[in-house]
Amino acid sequence: MTRSTDVVEAYKEYVVTSCVSRVEPVVVTSGSGAVVTDADGRQYVDCFSGISVVNTGHCNPKVVEAAKKQLDQLLHACAYVYYLEPVAKLAEKLAQIAPKGLKKTFFSNSGAEAVECGIKLARKFTKKHEILALQRSFHGRTFGTLSVTGQAGRRSYSMGPYLGSIAFAPTPYCYRCPLGCEYPNCGIQCAKMIEDTIRYSTSNDVAGFIAEPLLGEGGIIVPPEEYFREAKKILDEYGILFVADEVQTGFARTGKLFGIEHYDVTPDAMCFAKAIAGGLPLGACTATEEIANSFQPGDHLSTFGGNPVSCAAAVANIDFILEEDLPSRASKSGEYVMQRLEELKDRHELIGEVRGKGLMIGMELVKDRETKEPASRETARIRELCRQKGVLVGHGGVLGNVLRIQPPLIISQEQLDTAIDSVDQSFKEVAER
Ligand code: PLP
Repeated sequence: MTRSTDVVEAYKEYVVTSCVSRVEPVVVTSGSGAVVTDADGRQYVDCFSGISVVNTGHCNPKVVEAAKKQLDQLLHACAYVYYLEPVAKLAEKLAQIAPKGLKKTFFSNSGAEAVECGIKLARKFTKKHEILALQRSFHGRTFGTLSVTGQAGRRSYSMGPYLGSIAFAPTPYCYRCPLGCEYPNCGIQCAKMIEDTIRYSTSNDVAGFIAEPLLGEGGIIVPPEEYFREAKKILDEYGILFVADEVQTGFARTGKLFGIEHYDVTPDAMCFAKAIAGGLPLGACTATEEIANSFQPGDHLSTFGGNPVSCAAAVANIDFILEEDLPSRASKSGEYVMQRLEELKDRHELIGEVRGKGLMIGMELVKDRETKEPASRETARIRELCRQKGVLVGHGGVLGNVLRIQPPLIISQEQLDTAIDSVDQSFKEVAER
């Protein structure tokens, strides 16, 4: 049997971990549904899903079966050199479920690559060059995607300078409105500022606006319901494409199949990864036929993009999401969790705000509800205490003070109760210290 200490020692010696503040001290050896098991046989209720990936549960049997079948048949041939059936099937399925008009898909391996594709398509199609993004956004770790990421903390100065021709609009973040406004009496100034950003921070040569329907890594920030409608009006006026980064919000996570559906807006292109293939690596960028066809030979390619095993798994994964109506399930479970967390807020002063949609939920922790001073250390401590109690939650946000609850969407109410009780108990323990 694997000894956890051996794995940790080998990590220390041979795996680059200096790029993260720490690796959680759990050697995960197996997973099933909403539970993972470590090398010592200890079980944990997983409320982070490998950063919002295993929406259909760990080792979903339908996904595993499809991947195994494909493994026996063909591992690789390259989707851009030969025709591959799983690629064709998945592309057709994405065209069926994506918002109307989005039809053609380019496949890659990761979220960052999917976003790179969206940015390249916007530039190629519009023949313009600048990109508009949001402050506090996160779009990946490649050079291009870091350049459109609105977080100084992730754009390390020592690796810069980053790409130019990128402008950032204010975050639609009501709890800490950057414009000092208060929703709903604000006239959605944050959306209106998109126009100011175009007019005063660009050369009016903007190809695309890239944005997450809910900002995940930024701290589970939920833009007001009018935001993207207002934004799209402005973008259309200036001939700017809207590229929705659904890498974290896609595939039922927020209680809709795609996060942008909450906003009654159709983007011009969408980027997918994370939950698309139930845990196998795959990225995808789906656009209208006209936009997608603007790529000419030589403009884009990926050796592994559209790997047949990942694509076969993705088809089974999406079928499961539709057959089990996971959007509704995430929505109902999410309402239940939010209601219980709101009750915790009444008891624990540290909780500044509970927010989210579906099972993409964040709790922003503050030392003082008036000043909203971030309680980052306490957030890390609560995550640690939860882990000790057998519950894995996420920790994030630009200020490091957001607890993230993003479990597999098939999680049972009993497992959710276990998780919330542990969160509750952890808050008590932190308050008593
Ligand atoms: N876009 C969003 C919204 C993300 O949350 C992430 C990852 O967290 C990415 C892009 C990058 O995805 P990947 O890590 O697969 O490159």
